Amino acid sequence: MTTAAAPHLQLRNVCKSFGSVKVLRDVSLEVGRGETVCVIGPSGSGKSTLLRCVNMLSAPDSGDVSVGGEVITRTGTDLNSARTRIGMVFQNFNLFPHMSAQRNITVPLRRVLKLSRSDADQRAVTLLDRVGLSRHAHNRPAKLSGGQQQRVAIARALAMQPEIMLFDEATSALDPEMVKEVLAVMRDLSGSGMTMLVVTHEMGFAREGADRVVFMDEGRVAETGPAEQMLSSPQTRRLQDFLSKVL
Ligand code: ADP
Ligand code: MG
Repeated sequence: MTTAAAPHLQLRNVCKSFGSVKVLRDVSLEVGRGETVCVIGPSGSGKSTLLRCVNMLSAPDSGDVSVGGEVITRTGTDLNSARTRIGMVFQNFNLFPHMSAQRNITVPLRRVLKLSRSDADQRAVTLLDRVGLSRHAHNRPAKLSGGQQQRVAIARALAMQPEIMLFDEATSALDPEMVKEVLAVMRDLSGSGMTMLVVTHEMGFAREGADRVVFMDEGRVAETGPAEQMLSSPQTRRLQDFLSKVL
């Protein structure tokens, strides 16, 4: 059952191993409705695995994930319907190279949501406009810059009208001048009230764009708190070390 009072997204004691490697160890976290939570931490600390467990690309070994109070990690959950509620943007865009920007957006709308061609086109046009790419609707990915491709990927995820958006280092593959345009779209989305869980190395985005920050280290939530406090006065030695390397 979905309840308004429950956190929009909640992870409780999520554990995940690959073979003998414990990648997530009892991870618990919450994202309130309309909140943006940034996940930071060293490479290999389990950030991507965490996001993959949230939208069930990977099933947790134990613990659970709930959306609006409804557990989605139980056997018997309709995974396709759970996944349409949670959009995800990856580091490497994952656009279809042989399709225009607009078709990249309309194909999943037609195949998954069964929209008519005209409804799918209309939705794609609106979203391409929202991410500032109206003029590029008919270009294939190869004609677009990395920043533009990532904005198409964001538009494609938003077109499914998800309740929650996950971003996994969405700007890490981009040249510095393109990082800004993608972060601007993410800030705009955050400001519009989307519930977001964002893995990022962009500490500026975390500081200004996040309500809270979660620091992952060796598969655990090592520290969490309001963004400004976490980044200005980290409490744990591990976070102090991490920040001294990335800031
Ligand atoms: P991060 O995103 O923080 O860099 P990941 O979640 O990608 O960390 O990876 C955490 C650890 O889990 C790493 O040691 C990685 O090698 C391991 N790992 C991730 N996915 C798999 C997998 N499918 N099979 C085996 N090991 C994996
Ligand atoms: Mg990762």
